[in-house]
Amino acid sequence: MSLEVQSKELSSMNTLGLRSVAPTYVDYVDDEQLPELTDLVRQHDQTFVLGGGSNVVLPEQMPGLMVHVATRGIALVDETPRHWFIEAQAGENWHEFVRACLDQGWVGLENLALIPGTVGASPVQNIGAYGVELETRLEQVSAWDFHEGRLQVFSRDACNFAYRDSFFKRQPQGRWLITKVCFALPRQWEPRIDYPDLVGCRALEAKGLLQPQHVFDAVCEVRRNKLPDPAVLGNAGSFFKNPVVDAVQYQHIKAINPGLVAYEQADGTWKLAAGWLIDKAGWKGFRDGPVGVHDRQALVLVNYGGATADDIQALAGRICEDVFAKYGVALEQEPVRAGLT
Ligand SMILES: Cc1cc2nc3c(=O)[nH]c(=O)nc-3n(C[C@H](O)[C@H](O)[C@H](O)COP(=O)(O)OP(=O)(O)OC[C@H]3O[C@@H](n4cnc5c(N)ncnc54)[C@H](O)[C@@H]3O)c2cc1C
Repeated sequence: MSLEVQSKELSSMNTLGLRSVAPTYVDYVDDEQLPELTDLVRQHDQTFVLGGGSNVVLPEQMPGLMVHVATRGIALVDETPRHWFIEAQAGENWHEFVRACLDQGWVGLENLALIPGTVGASPVQNIGAYGVELETRLEQVSAWDFHEGRLQVFSRDACNFAYRDSFFKRQPQGRWLITKVCFALPRQWEPRIDYPDLVGCRALEAKGLLQPQHVFDAVCEVRRNKLPDPAVLGNAGSFFKNPVVDAVQYQHIKAINPGLVAYEQADGTWKLAAGWLIDKAGWKGFRDGPVGVHDRQALVLVNYGGATADDIQALAGRICEDVFAKYGVALEQEPVRAGLT
């Protein structure tokens, strides 16, 4: 199918619901479009690849070209005594993919249920939730390089995964288009249910009754209770990463704030709960015109309606300054600021 270039209003294509227009927008629906798409990318100074729009801050006017990923397809491509290898096209909805796998008996992704967005974006920030990180289930990523005009296959190691980070997240915007992702799902199911919220699953396991579907249902229920639904209140999930500090800085902050929530890492550093820092700094429930901090989740910035990228970035900037002033900790934004070079 040949590409149709159009102007697109994007407020319903980003979960923050920010007002944004892409004057030059195309849907990528088929790999046969990649050569034509490459020509189009080369005609523009800037390109941005958009999936489900759940981890982006879109400017009012998108500069350059926007490529929206809308490919579909899920297939079992191989199996060994230990794994099923499942390949999904980048435009597949992540949650529907997790559900489809579970329906087929391909287990191991249930802790990642209900994360918004697409399969293609999942390696970009190495999505994770409830004790499972994507990298532990990923086999390889196929990505189209617009600079070279060719497809490259990345092994798990080549993706350079880290906490909410990967090779792809560190690349210039619009250079790479992830076309499909291959997952290695274990045939021997090992439930990950040590997260405090999954207490009901632990009770079932103790009785020998736990099934993957129970974990999927429990994760969905906890997420629905904890996080605001973007369809009701615009948000991008966690707006900041949990900052990691060395043991000296951790001890210093902890001495002044005994209630500090933090988790020791294998290398002796400490991951601080960014939501706790923001909450204790007094921001929970704060509202400034169309934007605010969610009244139950201090890590979630919300759009009450009509907000722009400038509104949300101004609020994020104020929170960062305040947290730094109070704790000496620099917060790092999780959603990608689209259109920045
Ligand atoms: C309510 C809510 C809860 C969330 N909970 C979690 C959570 O528990 N854990 C977690 O890790 N994240 C969470 N997120 C963040 C978000 O869901 C993930 O980061 C998700 O993977 C983003 O997918 P997307 O398709 O919407 O990507 P987009 O927002 O469209 O894009 C995000 C980034 O990926 C790039 N990108 C997208 N698709 C491609 C592609 N095919 N090829 C190359 N680059 C691409 C974009 O250019 C951009 O840089 C949450 C978000 C919301 C709104």
